[in-house]
Amino acid sequence: MNPSNAEPQPHHDDRFVEVTEVGTRDGLQIEPVVIPAARKIGLINDMIAAGIGSIEVTSFVSPKAVPQLADAEEVIDGITRAPHTRLLALVPNLRAAERAVETSLDGAVLVCSASNTHNRKNLNRSVDETLAGVPSVVARLAEGNRRERRIDVIGAVATAFGCPFEGDIAVDDVLKIARAYVEAGASQVTLSDTTGMATPANIRTLVRAVRAALPGTPLALHLHNTRGVGLANVLVGLEEGIRRFDSSVGGLGGCPFAAGATGNICTEDLLFLLEGSGYETGVDLEAAIAVAHKMEKLLGKRLVGQVMRAGPRLRLHDAGTVATAAG
Ligand code: ZN
Repeated sequence: MNPSNAEPQPHHDDRFVEVTEVGTRDGLQIEPVVIPAARKIGLINDMIAAGIGSIEVTSFVSPKAVPQLADAEEVIDGITRAPHTRLLALVPNLRAAERAVETSLDGAVLVCSASNTHNRKNLNRSVDETLAGVPSVVARLAEGNRRERRIDVIGAVATAFGCPFEGDIAVDDVLKIARAYVEAGASQVTLSDTTGMATPANIRTLVRAVRAALPGTPLALHLHNTRGVGLANVLVGLEEGIRRFDSSVGGLGGCPFAAGATGNICTEDLLFLLEGSGYETGVDLEAAIAVAHKMEKLLGKRLVGQVMRAGPRLRLHDAGTVATAAG
């Protein structure tokens, strides 16, 4: 490459981006199909083999409410780990924490919506009631997992960039929740665009506000591509120093408040963007694409991922076999 044409590269120490795969939690929870535990374990093992180090495997929610994830314990404990694998799960309440400590879980994602209305719909409690419960959830998790290892606490602020019932969310409402997590001992705060309402400008404003209020707390972004600007939001997050992103294989998932909408930002598309922008992820893109195709077969429906169709940039075609159209 001609150095004078090279894009400015991020500083070496700053080039690693942690991608957390959330498809088996955020995606499968709204799919009508219930996938058998053994199939989920196979997919997650393939993700690990592709180099994905951090996976939000499932959610400890009521099996009655979300039958798709009723096999949480079986899935977590059936996974074949690599040395640095970090298995996460959503732990929305004390009952969930009681289940989590009986597994080999590495990290618990606590959740509270910045919108009171959304929180009531999601957790059947007010924001204040949810925050009042955080210390007891963290205390239960502090007992460690079944392998007698500590369980990391991640605090997710849902609807941080907007709520489908309340609209715009005040920065102070996000900060109140983020502070409660940090005071309780969370090692990361995740700002979640639960229903895909964030714009690049929203990302910049909120990341700066949270960073100013909680300097030193690692931040992550959980983005959905509901309105087509998911990866634009990633770019702004990168500019603002964010190095942790959630994404789902094939862009699995949807939005209960927007019929036909796309789901989380897509893992392979995110990997493609990051690699092409000079970042390292430790993930093999071709292997991640293969996982997306496997997931598609399993669900029996077309996923929205784009790199899984087009392939990496330099997957070249035989000029003799591809017809071209003028223009
Ligand atoms: Zn989500």
